[in-house]
Amino acid sequence: MFLNYREKPFALFYYVAISVRRELTRNEKFQMENLIKGFEGECLYDEILNTVGHENLYVLRDLYLNINNSVIQYDSIIVMNNRIVVNEVKNLNGDYRYENNGWYKNNKQMESDPFIQLSRGKSRLINLRQKSPWDFEVDGNIIFTNDDFSFVSDNEGMQSQAVMRSRLKKYFRSFKQEAVGNNAKEVVQLIKSAIVDNPKLPEPVDITQLKRGLYCGNCISYNLFKGQFQFVCEDCGSIESYETHLLRAMFDYKYLFPNQLMTRHSLLHLLNYEINKNTVFYALKKHCHILKNGNQTSYTLKYSNFDKELVKIRNTQRYKDKIINI
Ligand SMILES: [Zn+2]
Repeated sequence: MFLNYREKPFALFYYVAISVRRELTRNEKFQMENLIKGFEGECLYDEILNTVGHENLYVLRDLYLNINNSVIQYDSIIVMNNRIVVNEVKNLNGDYRYENNGWYKNNKQMESDPFIQLSRGKSRLINLRQKSPWDFEVDGNIIFTNDDFSFVSDNEGMQSQAVMRSRLKKYFRSFKQEAVGNNAKEVVQLIKSAIVDNPKLPEPVDITQLKRGLYCGNCISYNLFKGQFQFVCEDCGSIESYETHLLRAMFDYKYLFPNQLMTRHSLLHLLNYEINKNTVFYALKKHCHILKNGNQTSYTLKYSNFDKELVKIRNTQRYKDKIINI
């Protein structure tokens, strides 16, 4: 069973939030495309695992673990009674080879070597085990989710660690005889005790380079007509309440300015003072935790997922949002 939800990576939200307020640089576009591709691969992995079934396993996804004072990210860890399996998920396409300890695409040596990543991930979990009273084996595989991927190696050990898309169902079926009992529960607790937040948040964006203000959630147009409680998009006709716009702006703030405090003033500045300060204050109090430090009051969102929260708001709001599909 899945023990947690797989969220899109923070950096992906970051690039999306930038892209609605200024043009992305070539490198930013490249990074964003890679993140989308990686996330699609992980979702496909989840989908196939769902199809095969995982009720007899504990599956922890997209984790950052702090082990021996160093943080490492895991795409998926499968926990069973006496062993755990690390799955490093790669949505690569093209022809790859592993030769003389190097990882190549066509004839070019690649910087990030998934076999090294897997091996590092496994050894950290072995470190974690050594500090605990629990015993379990640590295995690992690299899951290549793309149909258009081929891989040759001069090393049989490497080949056996790789699971290709065409073999993935069979691979998941190989866990069918496994079970989870008390030992597995304790191992899950051990892993959970090492979970930390993603330590590598991107650099805050320079706000002077950004278009400030509110935009339509449906077509991203800034051309909005302001009514008494809602905005109407003059391009697609969608209607969204002040509250919807404010919640979106708060999430944009969180992604655009990681590690920077959100204050009423800084949020008003991002939305170009298009909503009156008392309404903004009310929304901040409703949707955020309040932190007071001397004279300064700052806010952090109570929720981690904008889409989920938007559904809740839309179910309860008095002046209903109306999205026009074009
Ligand atoms: Zn619109």
